[in-house]
Amino acid sequence: MRKLLMHACCAPCFVYIENDLRKNGLLLDGKYEKVEYTACFYNPNIHPKVEYERRKNTFKDFCAQKKCDFIVIDEYDLNGYIKYVVENVGKGKKYSYRCEYCYYMRLKKVFEYAKENNFDIVSTTLTISPYQNHDIIKKVGKKLEEEFGIEFIYIDYREHFREGQKMAREFGLYMQKYCGCVFSFDDGKWVY
Ligand code: SF4
Repeated sequence: MRKLLMHACCAPCFVYIENDLRKNGLLLDGKYEKVEYTACFYNPNIHPKVEYERRKNTFKDFCAQKKCDFIVIDEYDLNGYIKYVVENVGKGKKYSYRCEYCYYMRLKKVFEYAKENNFDIVSTTLTISPYQNHDIIKKVGKKLEEEFGIEFIYIDYREHFREGQKMAREFGLYMQKYCGCVFSFDDGKWVY
């Protein structure tokens, strides 16, 4: 059975996907494949730190409750993220906007972990959210796939977003009101 490392941006976005992975497997080209899955929390730019801790702990509690394999890469780096965005993004350099860099730096770390620990596939729960830029996630994932030689699977879970949110509420999970970084906190809404 192939090993999947599923990047989890937060517990509420993981609920539907975890249930689907457990019951059916990973949906590949319209067919389910059973996989061994591990969820990986790596979201170092959540602001403020107390919110980071809250989302991280919600994720850990949820995984423990479901008895699903998980890891937390507990490296908080708000300063590094902000410095990079302010100095580089939108200035004709590598990343045209902050979310592209944000996807890249999170998924790169997940790929590194996958490489070191012999995973076959990487994916992310970001793709259940209608608020994220799916084309850019796909592009970033495919670039990392080439760089690391590990398959990146993009699945458009958006039609299940509301159901997932409902399931998360039923579990009594903490539900955040903004995407995560200080910019989205300041916006007060998920607009990029
Ligand atoms: S809005 Fe969300 S995806 Fe975009 S940079 Fe902020 S945390 Fe990352």
